[in-house]
Amino acid sequence: MRIEEELKLDFKDVLIRPKRSTLTSRAEVDISRQFVFRTSRRTYKGIPIIAANMDTVGTLDMARTLAGHGLATALHKHYDEHLLIDFFRALPATDTVFYSMGIARVDYEKFHRVNAALTTDTADATDTANTGQGIASLCVDVANGYTKSFVDFIHKLREEYPDKTLMAGNVVTGEMTEELILAGVDIVKVGIGPGSVCTTRRMTGVGYPQLSAIIECADAAHGLGGLICADGGCTSPGDLAKAFGGGADFIMLGGMLAGHDECGGEVVETNGMRKMAFYGMSSRAAMDKYAGGVAEYRASEGKQVLIDHRGAVEATLQDILGGVRSACTYVGARRLKELSKRTTFIRVARQLNDWFGER
Ligand code: 5GP
Repeated sequence: MRIEEELKLDFKDVLIRPKRSTLTSRAEVDISRQFVFRTSRRTYKGIPIIAANMDTVGTLDMARTLAGHGLATALHKHYDEHLLIDFFRALPATDTVFYSMGIARVDYEKFHRVNAALTTDTADATDTANTGQGIASLCVDVANGYTKSFVDFIHKLREEYPDKTLMAGNVVTGEMTEELILAGVDIVKVGIGPGSVCTTRRMTGVGYPQLSAIIECADAAHGLGGLICADGGCTSPGDLAKAFGGGADFIMLGGMLAGHDECGGEVVETNGMRKMAFYGMSSRAAMDKYAGGVAEYRASEGKQVLIDHRGAVEATLQDILGGVRSACTYVGARRLKELSKRTTFIRVARQLNDWFGER
């Protein structure tokens, strides 16, 4: 047994120190980014925020709406393949919509079929916006990105699809981030345990404070020309500012985008309040729905909550993007790209957080 004494931080442990700035309005701030991915060599342009591949967040409706605002979506993996083919066929640009999969053979074969159907489309089909390129961006998602089978899968996928943008995880440490990037991952997904409906830390005792994970993994990734996506734990626009400030290139959101019309779930009335169910993808609710229950050898590592129904996602987006823009003006970052260089974190005593009832 070993104990690591070095202090590790979560979003709630820090604030961003304001800096002198010549910016006069948050309207001057550009929060879009442009990347050329390390391995796929594809170009990405947009606001680097991604709706999580959860079945109550990463929906086709969410993808259409977010695309209209320059944001990305990782579709959940439970869609029927014909629905996916029709959806991708109609998309004019597919780089900001990620096709998600696990590492099981069925996932791989399903992707292969969907991609093949799209690549054999003919360019002269009039209703086809996506002319024969197939899927551009992939999200390979496992709860534990430290297994050999996951890394082997990534090698195999990369070999077969050299020009697809590959986002994969989840991990929380620099050395595993480097291994994944060297295996051909373009964007390493970072976060074990911080999710709003995740119970991994409680069920297993495993995890890593999310802000430190972001800082350490971003440093490792950037050293190799790779990128990271901070996945989980953001509960307010300020948390996104801290994640970007810590070096995240992309941020994935579950809970903050849940509860909207685009999420596709049923709205229920409880005590006069309109509520929607939101659950983790390893929760009993999800496993009952997709796997016929929780297998005997495992425990659920997610929970279900009822959250307020918040109407269309647009108002929430405005809040999120407004908060990030404002953070940029506080530190004098004219572009989101500059936010991390201009960020100094101030450590906040935990008692203060508790005192003011923060989070
Ligand atoms: P949030 O933005 O809600 O804090 O976090 C979203 C992230 O939580 C997802 O992108 C995913 O990585 C993670 N997640 C989703 N469902 C589960 C689950 O059932 N268990 C665990 N451990 N993590 C989950």
